[in-house]
Amino acid sequence: MVNPLYSKVRELKKYAIDEHIPIMADQGIDFLTTYILKHQVTNILEIGTAIGYSAIMMALVNPKVKVTTIERDQIRYMEAVKNVKKFGLEDRITLIFQDALEVNIEGTFDLIFIDAAKGQNIKFFERFEKNLAVDGSIITDNMGFHGLVAKDENEIASKNLRSLVRKIKDYITYLRENQNYMTTFYFEVGDGLAVSKRK
Ligand code: SAH
Ligand code: MG
Repeated sequence: MVNPLYSKVRELKKYAIDEHIPIMADQGIDFLTTYILKHQVTNILEIGTAIGYSAIMMALVNPKVKVTTIERDQIRYMEAVKNVKKFGLEDRITLIFQDALEVNIEGTFDLIFIDAAKGQNIKFFERFEKNLAVDGSIITDNMGFHGLVAKDENEIASKNLRSLVRKIKDYITYLRENQNYMTTFYFEVGDGLAVSKRK
């Protein structure tokens, strides 16, 4: 028997690729969902919904998982609303249409997943760490940024891209030097992930 979930997930991924929406790499999703299972994460805050793909994948881990996710782009937000309905996950995924740097979120989460504007990671981290449960963790995506973080700066032709890569490097330094967290980097997983655990 074919599980109808698979075809729905496949459809979602195909839409993202066709529309050039930067959803999480398969390896990254595997890592994230395994992490959720292993650490019995139930309450997740996501920064950067896009069309809801990663939120849906996280919610599908098990029926206890609840996701609150923030998106500032209206078209993507509306697409996410549609997709969450398609999967019947309206009661476990809360979609917020707002700029994450302006929204105030109440409550605490066992996992905060940062996957929004890559140059703003420090700001996201500092804005939402108050929402992190005592033994919670913050996971950040795109730490490798398509291999550009490992590259020599002179090899990056575009000035904007160079500046973005510099900001990701600043964030890596920030995490390494942050005395309140122990961060492990997984540069080889998907587009690179950082897992920061409260000490
Ligand atoms: N997590 C998604 C992909 C997110 S792509 C997945 O893997 O399926 C990054 C998204 O973050 C984009 O849709 C972008 O519009 C959004 N974003 C960037 N900066 C933001 C901000 N300050 N507040 C809210 N959303 C933001
Ligand atoms: Mg990402």
